[in-house]
Amino acid sequence: STAHSVTVIGLGPMGQAMAAAYLDRGYRVTLWNRTPSRADALVERGAILAESVESALLANELVVLSLTDFDAMYAILGAAEGAVAGRTLVNLSSDTPEKARAGARWVTGLGGTHLTGGVLCPPPLIGTPDTSAFYSGPREAYDTHRAALEVITGKSDYRGEDQGLAALMYQLNMAIFWPAMIAFWQTAAVAGAHGLTAQEIAPYVTENFAGMGHFVDFYAARIDAGNHAGDVDRTAMGLASMEHVVHTASDAGVDTAFPEAVHDIFRRVVEAGHGADSFSRAVELMRGHDT
Ligand code: NDP
Repeated sequence: STAHSVTVIGLGPMGQAMAAAYLDRGYRVTLWNRTPSRADALVERGAILAESVESALLANELVVLSLTDFDAMYAILGAAEGAVAGRTLVNLSSDTPEKARAGARWVTGLGGTHLTGGVLCPPPLIGTPDTSAFYSGPREAYDTHRAALEVITGKSDYRGEDQGLAALMYQLNMAIFWPAMIAFWQTAAVAGAHGLTAQEIAPYVTENFAGMGHFVDFYAARIDAGNHAGDVDRTAMGLASMEHVVHTASDAGVDTAFPEAVHDIFRRVVEAGHGADSFSRAVELMRGHDT
């Protein structure tokens, strides 16, 4: 293998985009995927489809894994445990911090090096400069492979030695991303019931998201200080407001499960006796302090 060569295991939309980005940069790319046909377009562009997991591992010191979860890693590498020694496995599969730590121990026990990663962009943006990924694990492995990792995303954010950290940061991002986008689907459904298209409301949704930074910064300082004063907002107000959101959806014939979940949190804060506090008080409820 050469300095500019890499193995990519896992060819879902992400793995395919990563392999393509390496080909774009002139890397020699070796591939393996459970469903071999997903390699076809990449092989046409010059990638090498390994005949076995073992030969995919032996082809390169740097091995990028892009799988649904960490269980898929065991399913794939379990058949070639002997070939893990001496490899650096960069696992960009989503999973919990605990699963990442256990996966790293497993790889290390086989004589390999493990880096956990979490990529923060969709497949079409892989290989472009304004993208980033979290990494954690041995600093030395990160430093050694940083240039190769920054082919995948233009920037990388090394969080520390703990293998769980990159997974944690990734999951924190997803805990924001999925509900935020579902909130958009919800508004698209309600707007649609009133004859407004998703594209018509999109600029307003974008502006709403863009303004979130103000709230995040304002409440972050207060949360860390344990200050849930109701000087700016009161949970009783939030509860009434969420009731209006739920009723606006039900009046439009739209499913209310999502706003009802938010409404329920506000209701529990009020029932715990904190209606006069800020809705940031819900953090204490989530921590189990206000049950
Ligand atoms: P997919 O879930 O589509 O990845 C599927 C890959 O995992 C395929 O190569 C699939 O093989 C393989 N796989 C799954 N289970 C097994 C198994 N039991 N044994 C062998 N192979 C298995 O995901 P994406 O490509 O979309 O994403 C990859 C990772 O990146 C995920 O963890 C995802 O959370 C994360 N991610 C995805 C983003 C996106 O927008 N798509 C954005 C940011 C991160 P086969 O082809 O044979 O089915």
